[in-house]
Amino acid sequence: SFLDRVRLTEPVLRSFLHVAESHVLEEARLLDRRIENGESLGPLAGVFVGVKDNICTADMPSTGGSRILEGYRVAYDATAVRKIRELGGIVVGKTNLDEFGMGSTTEGSGYQVTANPWDVSRVPGGSSGGSAAAVSARQCVVALGSDTGGSVRQPASFCGVVGLKPTYGRVSRYGLMAYASSLDVIGCFGSSVLDTAILLGAISGFDRLDATSSKRGVPDFTSELNPVSILGAKPLEGLRVGIIRETLDGGVDPAVVGVIKSAASHLEDLGCIVNEVSLPSFALGLPAYYILASSESSSNLSRYDGVRYGSQAIADDLNALYGDSRAKGLGSEVKMRILMGTYALSAGYYDAYYKRAQQVRTIIQKSFKAALDENDILISPATPSAAYKIGEKKNDPLAMYAGDVTTVNVNLAGLPALVVPSGFVDGGSSGLPVGLQMIGAAFDEEKILKVGHIFE
Ligand code: GLN
Repeated sequence: SFLDRVRLTEPVLRSFLHVAESHVLEEARLLDRRIENGESLGPLAGVFVGVKDNICTADMPSTGGSRILEGYRVAYDATAVRKIRELGGIVVGKTNLDEFGMGSTTEGSGYQVTANPWDVSRVPGGSSGGSAAAVSARQCVVALGSDTGGSVRQPASFCGVVGLKPTYGRVSRYGLMAYASSLDVIGCFGSSVLDTAILLGAISGFDRLDATSSKRGVPDFTSELNPVSILGAKPLEGLRVGIIRETLDGGVDPAVVGVIKSAASHLEDLGCIVNEVSLPSFALGLPAYYILASSESSSNLSRYDGVRYGSQAIADDLNALYGDSRAKGLGSEVKMRILMGTYALSAGYYDAYYKRAQQVRTIIQKSFKAALDENDILISPATPSAAYKIGEKKNDPLAMYAGDVTTVNVNLAGLPALVVPSGFVDGGSSGLPVGLQMIGAAFDEEKILKVGHIFE
């Protein structure tokens, strides 16, 4: 029935770059046989999982949304994918994204543009727009994305689903195509907080194949997600919630602020103590992020030289081969980031840009730490606006980058953050969803999941 739904909706949504029909049917038959034999099944048995196409899968193409990897096959599964499969999950296919994760709309995919299921003339967000649209349209139950600067949370908000960016190090990055390695994390999409928590539990944990993965134990992320049954009780009594002042004005749509303020008063009704908290360095996050992410990407993407991976241009000498392969295979946004990053890292500019951005990063980390010493969680809008029209910001990269203002700080600080649908603003035929972002202390995903679960 999921495959039928994919067939029906995919011509309009274009969430997937690859749907593994025969693999899915084979897995389903295998599952049937195991049920008949009375075998015990894993907790994800039969669950349809979408996987962002910058996450490697051994039996399907992995393009990262880039033409330079057209037809490229990897010999192994990413650790997160391997774990999902070991628990019985079925990978339905590879979802669309902005090339190598660089973008906020999926318009930057080298292959196709995904539509937002709430209004198909709008973007689903990005870069994990395919995963968000797929979960939103129930083409799959849950999906993996990656979040370097908001690429799980922003599309979750635009598509009205739950999105979780785990703490840096919680989930192995082995098999995730590197964009900006100090910021990249694999994240989860679900149509409920419970589904999202189950997926997080499945993929978390130390992995010797990723030197930055954490040795911390993995709790049962679902253990605190109990249904609230006592009417009139205040299930979040005394929980200190800081609403980030800097996200309530400036470029944020007043209608979005309205939704977030009513979410805050709903949290108060549930027993929370909500106060405004100021993070004075907040506005520095965006420029620091774009310098650091571009710098790291300029180094990471040097591996796509037409020799080691993917498609190769025909050329007379080696330099021309590198140059032509990259000129043909990489899209314009990716080239712009490589140029920006190379510039920021070059002698004479390094101190003025890269080093300063690293210093800003430290200041941001400290200010989050202070705010989270005073508060149990922080909240903000997930995005400054609801989903906008396809094409609206395509030729205005700075306007697109500005939309990341609410998300990038969390990556710079390495913290976990959950986005849950919290209301609607005008737009489309049925209104457009807006997500509430809940930020927790490092490795305290349990708390934001608990609050998110009661809130939803
Ligand atoms: N939109 C941001 C960027 O283009 C975030 C991307 C991401 O998280 N992968 O860098």
